[in-house]
Amino acid sequence: MNKLSGLLNALLFLFLIIISSTVEFIWMILRLPIRLSICKIRGHEWVWLGNGFFGMFAPKKNFKCKICGFKTKHPENHKTVKHQQSL
Ligand SMILES: [Zn+2]
Repeated sequence: MNKLSGLLNALLFLFLIIISSTVEFIWMILRLPIRLSICKIRGHEWVWLGNGFFGMFAPKKNFKCKICGFKTKHPENHKTVKHQQSL
């Protein structure tokens, strides 16, 4: 073992770290438009957050999209996933 091979190993290790962190970073950036485009094409998938305790303490925006996290009081104003019963 000489100094050069040690340096090459270190460089290879550094290179692998850079590649893996770059891939993670790219995936993080790609995920947002994928989610937004899924909601645009298929529609939002609403989850009812409930109306509190017998209608009291109800959240103002009581519908939330499961996919993108968008909250609204009026999901009927937005595109919504149509659940099919055929399966
Ligand atoms: Zn959505």
